[in-house]
Amino acid sequence: MAVISAVLVAGFLSTNIISYQISTAALKETILRNELPLTSSNIYAEIQADLLEPLFVSSLMAHDTFVRTWLENGEMPQSHIVSYLAEIRKRYSVFTAFLISDRTKNYYHFSGVPQVVDEADPEDVWFFRMRGLDKPYEINLDFNQAQSNTPTVFINYRMTDAGGKFLALTGVGLELEGLTRILSHYADDERRNIYFVDQGGRVTVRAGRHAAENERLQDISGLARLAPKLLSSNSGYYDYVRDGEPMLATARLIPELGWYVLVEQREADAMRDLQRGFWVNSLIGVVIVLLTVGLIFYAVAFYQRRLEEMATTDKLTGLVNRQVFDDALEAAVKKYRRSVDRFSLILIDIDHFKNVNDTYGHLMGDKVLRQISDLVRHVMRDSDIVCRWGGEEIIVLAHNCPQDDAATRAEDLLKAIESAVIETDHGRLVVTVSAGVTQGRPDDTADTLLLRADAALYRAKDTGRNRVCIAD
Ligand code: GH3
Ligand code: MG
Ligand code: MG
Repeated sequence: MAVISAVLVAGFLSTNIISYQISTAALKETILRNELPLTSSNIYAEIQADLLEPLFVSSLMAHDTFVRTWLENGEMPQSHIVSYLAEIRKRYSVFTAFLISDRTKNYYHFSGVPQVVDEADPEDVWFFRMRGLDKPYEINLDFNQAQSNTPTVFINYRMTDAGGKFLALTGVGLELEGLTRILSHYADDERRNIYFVDQGGRVTVRAGRHAAENERLQDISGLARLAPKLLSSNSGYYDYVRDGEPMLATARLIPELGWYVLVEQREADAMRDLQRGFWVNSLIGVVIVLLTVGLIFYAVAFYQRRLEEMATTDKLTGLVNRQVFDDALEAAVKKYRRSVDRFSLILIDIDHFKNVNDTYGHLMGDKVLRQISDLVRHVMRDSDIVCRWGGEEIIVLAHNCPQDDAATRAEDLLKAIESAVIETDHGRLVVTVSAGVTQGRPDDTADTLLLRADAALYRAKDTGRNRVCIAD
């Protein structure tokens, strides 16, 4: 049983472990190849959609004839450009709208009084960089000095005259808040961490409960080693370990922003459901194994008992069979030689049993046989062995019982049988038996004993039946 249990448990656990490992690998692959890239694609699409209109507005401003004429007219009156910018801001619901003239270096914005940009001021270098830019626009993350240093995404558009000479920079700004909201949305129940990283590795926006707080990718544990590779390809999959925790991530470049969106997830978070499934399966497996083993044990014990019963018992009468009796007799003979046990044999045969069969039928004969067997069992002691010797003959091995006592008991039995009520379809039936009795002798074998008992029985039949004879 222990071996069966061990084999079943081992089999069950190993298939469970293997399937868990396969599922883990498949899930990891799905997360890396599908789930995380899908998230970054969605973010990308949403950002693109969010940037499209501001980009359009910036472009519109850069090509506006009113603005151009106003610049050519010496930037007067200032109130016109201020209302223009205020109108743009209001109409397109952007956070800010501005224009910086290259000639006067005036920074006009929607709320009035212009400031002046200064090449010497590090805060303003971006403008002077944009002057020489070879593409029409650039998107930047910066702090909006005109509006209490709010982190802002600026979409800056270069305005040139017909000859391509740089005239001014126009643009709108979007609150970074908006981007953060998009990221938080995709952090999805805080299961994922999302970062926007610029091409230098600086983290600009982050979302997610477990997001690393470092300012630079190169300082984030686990990602530091990957940073050069990540920042030099447009997209990629990564797995790494952060603070002992296996992580999965994908990164892709958002060209419009010049930023990477990095979506990362703790492997353990994704595997938790699988792990729970593994333990539940294992538990169910062990319970099933225990139940199975219990059932097998029960069934084996049950059939073993049945087999033993069948091997030792006569089916019709329920008495022991000859197999058992022979062993018991052999043992009794041996014991007698050691003078331990005085025993007797009583051999019983039903009188004129053939008549019973002939008159009442074979089934009735069986019933009579059973009833008489019960009576013998009842009259004899529990320690006596009562065996169906064959046909309608019964033999009793009575331990610690000299032949006179055995004969007395046989007489009692005869009386009980003769007075027993045996009902048949044709009224009451009286049945008698004859018995031969003998006791063990020092030089006996089983055969000599049986021969004597048989002779005594024969004499009982011969002298009128329904009587007990003791062997000579
Ligand atoms: P006797 O008094 O001389 O013993 O006469 P008898 O008719 O009993 O003669 P005998 O012992 O030779 O016959 C035994 C009969 O018992 C023969 C057989 O048909 C019947 N018999 C033996 N075993 C069974 C049994 O299991 N069931 C039934 N119904 N009859 C059996
Ligand atoms: Mg007989
Ligand atoms: Mg008989």
